[in-house]
Amino acid sequence: MSYEQKPKPSRLLIKLSSMVNPPSTIQSNLPAMLHSRNVAVIGGGAAGIVAARELRREGHKVVVLEKDNQIGGTWVYTPRVETDPIGLDPGRQIIHSSLYSSLRTNLPREVMGYTDYPFVPRNSGSGDLRRFPGHTEVLTYLKEFGRDFGIHEMVRYETEVLNVGLVGNNKWKVKSKTRHECYIDEIYDAVVVCNGHYTEPRIADIPGINSWPGKQMHSHNYRVPEPFQDKVVILIGGSASAVDICRDIARVAKEVYVASRSVADETYEKHPGYDNMWHHPMIESAYGDGTVVFHNGNVVLADVILHCTGYKYHFPFLDTNGNVTVDDSCVGPLYKHVFPLVLSPWLSFVGLPWKVVPFPLCELQSKWIAGNLSGRLALPSQEEMMEDVKAFYSKLEASRIPKRYTHNMAGYQFDYDDWLAEQCGSPGIEEWRKQMYNAVSKKRRDRPETYRDEWEDNDLILQAEEDFIKHTSSRVVT
Ligand code: FAD
Repeated sequence: MSYEQKPKPSRLLIKLSSMVNPPSTIQSNLPAMLHSRNVAVIGGGAAGIVAARELRREGHKVVVLEKDNQIGGTWVYTPRVETDPIGLDPGRQIIHSSLYSSLRTNLPREVMGYTDYPFVPRNSGSGDLRRFPGHTEVLTYLKEFGRDFGIHEMVRYETEVLNVGLVGNNKWKVKSKTRHECYIDEIYDAVVVCNGHYTEPRIADIPGINSWPGKQMHSHNYRVPEPFQDKVVILIGGSASAVDICRDIARVAKEVYVASRSVADETYEKHPGYDNMWHHPMIESAYGDGTVVFHNGNVVLADVILHCTGYKYHFPFLDTNGNVTVDDSCVGPLYKHVFPLVLSPWLSFVGLPWKVVPFPLCELQSKWIAGNLSGRLALPSQEEMMEDVKAFYSKLEASRIPKRYTHNMAGYQFDYDDWLAEQCGSPGIEEWRKQMYNAVSKKRRDRPETYRDEWEDNDLILQAEEDFIKHTSSRVVT
C-alpha cells in the first residue's frame, strides 16, 4: 500500500482525550475497558526512551532493559573500539556506539527533536548552541528527556537481554543478565524491540582481499583521524558517515581514495578543495603486494581500507520460531515496519526505517504500539496485514528496488509518519519540518562542506520556534 493513498485507519475504539498523567498516578486513571500490559522494552536509546514514555502514558507497566549504564544508545560516544576493527569476529567484545569524535548532527536540531519536546538550546545558554550540534549535545537532550519524563525509574541499567522467546498464551519469556552476572527469567505480555541497527558492520566484498597485507577496518571503529597520519587510505562508501570521515582523515593522511558506487566505472576525480583526496568507482581487486585496483584501472598501494559500508539488522536475542526473519536487511514480514503479522501486537520493532528523521518517527511508532496493546486502537486482520505486506513487497520488486532497501524510506517517510499519526489520532508532522528537511537534504548534497553552518531557511526556523513555544514555555512533565 502506498502512503500517498489514504489508507483505512485502524479503528479508533476509544479516543482518550487525556492520557497525560504523572508517571506515578497513571495506573489509577486508566479507563476500565483498556488493558494495561506488562511490557519489556529492549534498549534505552532514542527509540526505547520514547517507547517507554508512550507505553506508560497509555497505562502500561514498562521495564526498559538496557545493557549500558546510561540511556542514549548510539549517542553515548566512547573512544573505545572493538577488538576486531573490521567487526567480523563473532567473539569480539561489542561496543554499541558508532560515533566518531568530530561528529555533528546531519539534521538541524529543529527537525531532529521529538515532536513535543523540541531540541532547542538550553535557556541557560550552556552547551553546544549550534544548529547542527556535536554528539554530546544530543546525548544531553536525550538525558533531559529521560529526566523530564521520569524514564530512569523504568530502566534497568547494565542488563543485557540474552533471549526473548514465546511461551504459552502469546506471552514472552525474557532472559537477561545483570552486571553481577545474575541471570533473570521474566514473563511479559509484550516486547518492544529498540536495540538499534548501527552496531553490526556490513563489509564490502573485495576479490583478493585475503592475501592483501594492509589493515582493514569498519567505520563502526573509527573515532579520530590521528592513527591515519601519513597513511594511504581507501575509504569505501558514500553515506553520511563516509562524507564526514573522508574529510576528517584527509587532514592528516598522505592520500585518501574514496571508492563508491556513485562514481562511473571509467572515471576518477579530485575532491574539490583537497590536494590529497580523489573519488573512484568501486574496487575491482586487492593483491598480495599491497596494491588495490579500481574499476577505472587505477592502481593504488594502500595502507588501510576503511569500510563505511553500513550495518546489518541484528537481533541475536530474538527467537520467534521463524515468524520474523532477517534476509538481506529485510526484517519481516512486518506490517508497516513494526508488527510481525502473527505475533502482533505482542512483539513490535521501533526505529527500523532508515533515511528518515528517527526521533519523531520512533515517537509515532511507539504511540501506535501503545494504543494497540491497550486496545484503544485495533490492527486489521492478519489476512489484511498479510495482503498489505505482499503488496508492499511486490511494489518494491516491480520498481526494481533491492531487498536490502526494504526499510529505506527516502521519499516517503513523512507520508508514513502522517499515516501513523492518523492511526493514533495525533497531529501529523509539521509542514515546516518537512520543508526544512527537504531543504537541508538538498544543501547537504550540494554543499557538504558548509551546509551545517550556512543556511537560508530563516523563515522556517521562525515557524518552528513559534510552534515550539507551546512545548518549551514550561517543559511540563506528562
Ligand atoms: P540506539 O541509539 O542504537 O539504541 C539502542 C540501545 O539498545 C542501546 O542503548 C543499546 O545499548 C541497547 N541494546 C542493544 N542490544 C541490547 C540488549 N541485547 N540488551 C539490552 N540493551 C540492548 N540520527 C539523527 O536524528 N541525526 C543525526 O545526525 C544522526 N547521525 C548519526 C550518525 C551516526 C554515525 C549513526 C550511527 C547514526 C546517526 N543517527 C542520526 C541515527 C541514530 O541511530 C538515531 O538518531 C538513534 O540513535 C536511534 O536510536 P535507537 O534507540 O533506535 O538505537
